[in-house]
Amino acid sequence: MNGERVAVIGAGMGGLAAALTLAARGFTVTVIEKADQPGGKMRAVPAGPTLVDAGPTVFTMRWVLDALLAEAGFATDEHFRLTQLGVLARHVWDGSQGVLDLAADEHATAEAIARFAGAAEARGFRAFAARAAAIHATLDHTFMRAPRPNPVTLVGRAGLSGLTRLWGVSPFAVLWEELGKHFQDSRLRQLFGRYATYCGANPFTAPATLMLIAHVEQRGVWAVEGGMHALARGLAALAERAGATFRFGAEVAEIMVERGRVAGVRLADGERIAADYVVLNADVAALSAGLFGEAARRAVPDQKQVPRSLSALTWTGLAHASGFPLTRHTVFFSRNYRDEFDRIAQGRLPREPTVYVCAQDRVDDGTTAGGPERLLVLVNAPARGDRGQPTPEEIERCEQATFALLARCGLQITWEPGMMRRTGPAEWARMFPATGGALYGRDLAGWRASFQRPGATTRIPGLYLAGGSVHPGPGVPMALMSGRLAALALMADHASTRRFHRAAMPGGMSMRSATTVSMG
Ligand SMILES: Cc1cc2nc3c(=O)[nH]c(=O)nc-3n(C[C@H](O)[C@H](O)[C@H](O)COP(=O)(O)OP(=O)(O)OC[C@H]3O[C@@H](n4cnc5c(N)ncnc54)[C@H](O)[C@@H]3O)c2cc1C
Repeated sequence: MNGERVAVIGAGMGGLAAALTLAARGFTVTVIEKADQPGGKMRAVPAGPTLVDAGPTVFTMRWVLDALLAEAGFATDEHFRLTQLGVLARHVWDGSQGVLDLAADEHATAEAIARFAGAAEARGFRAFAARAAAIHATLDHTFMRAPRPNPVTLVGRAGLSGLTRLWGVSPFAVLWEELGKHFQDSRLRQLFGRYATYCGANPFTAPATLMLIAHVEQRGVWAVEGGMHALARGLAALAERAGATFRFGAEVAEIMVERGRVAGVRLADGERIAADYVVLNADVAALSAGLFGEAARRAVPDQKQVPRSLSALTWTGLAHASGFPLTRHTVFFSRNYRDEFDRIAQGRLPREPTVYVCAQDRVDDGTTAGGPERLLVLVNAPARGDRGQPTPEEIERCEQATFALLARCGLQITWEPGMMRRTGPAEWARMFPATGGALYGRDLAGWRASFQRPGATTRIPGLYLAGGSVHPGPGVPMALMSGRLAALALMADHASTRRFHRAAMPGGMSMRSATTVSMG
């Protein structure tokens, strides 16, 4: 133990990754979480005798988790049971326009698309998949794993030989337009455009680089035994084994700054916890809104005018689902996709939303043990929960439209009495203050937006940021990466401070340099 104290504010994915990495490296880590469980957005809600995942449900890029755990001395398979899905998702269009499964096997998907929409569309898919893979390969190293890329460092990391590849990712193109070059069939454009919403972005304004999400999903979607929430619980348990301490039900009211440097945190009940470093896992909008005190506000550029990503309206609970063969992940598309996102951009709920249903007890064959099953039903919504929008009447109308669309596609959902919970932008906004209910940080319209997220370091020495609102962005694996990047930045600063002190005080104790951790 080197004893340096780190306070991590928030036990979301980013906070947990930072806590695990730092505790495993010998820092004295205290995680302070205002909820009574770890996970943040990766939360589960009780429904009778069971817990239902009420946050993320699609787990991808397991290699990020594997690398994080390996660095801390743990093996994923010894602590989590992950099953790779054969069917990535089932897609359904209203009015007998068909059903299309995307398979983990890309060739099977191409064949399914050929049957669904013809040979030319299958060729379009193959070209799209190759392009998405190339975008991922190019941006994985130059952007996602880089500490805080900007266009200049991106080019620097790509190197001269990588410039052509970088240009090949069409950095300035809009996703929706580019999809039109691969697919004539509007259903396929809609399907692959929907991947933008995984980052909370509008498919009609998002950059074409988000095609890489399709590739990431093609490389594997896993079901987690015990539910996604088991990941959060498991990560917290491993961080504890590595030496971290957790304080649940404790809200941080201030990040204390003394002589221009972080000094610890003050809880809402007045308790002060001294710390040499602080990692903040709350949305960066909360920092900028002054929710962590005036001194900490200046840590990042003002976020008040930053456009917000999507929110959601969700229904979670135990239900009987009949009349349609659900698989684990099923998407029911609206008839007018542009209208759906135009309305959201205007701050209103869609007249007819695209509906995602996660049947959490099903895997590929779609069968269940019988009896009620755990469901999450989700539609996209504008993030104006802090402005009284959408109104209760709008939410009622959207609920009717949601379940009417499902019924037209044959799916009847009957919730067990008292076992369904509805969550909208206002509730998300209360759980994640200063966001208005935005679930994925800032909006990603245009090519610049991805570069405008803050990185791990801030203007205040000793204060670091982790989570979906900072680089490399939202989604479970990205938030994990952000936590690791925050830990690496902290360790690098710590190592350079110690080098400085050792130089100043000959004969000081030596320590294994934190920078020896692989940068991945
Ligand atoms: C409904 C829904 C569906 C999603 N679907 C997917 C999906 O299928 N796949 C996917 O990869 N991603 C999905 N996501 C996104 C994903 O869940 C998030 O990007 C990721 O979990 C965010 O992690 P984070 O590190 O930003 O922390 P967060 O989850 O934002 O957690 C931050 C934590 O900080 C705590 N905190 C904040 N302020 C304070 C304070 N003052 N004091 C103490 N604690 C504080 C909060 O209570 C919270 O626990 C979904 C999200 C939602 C909500």
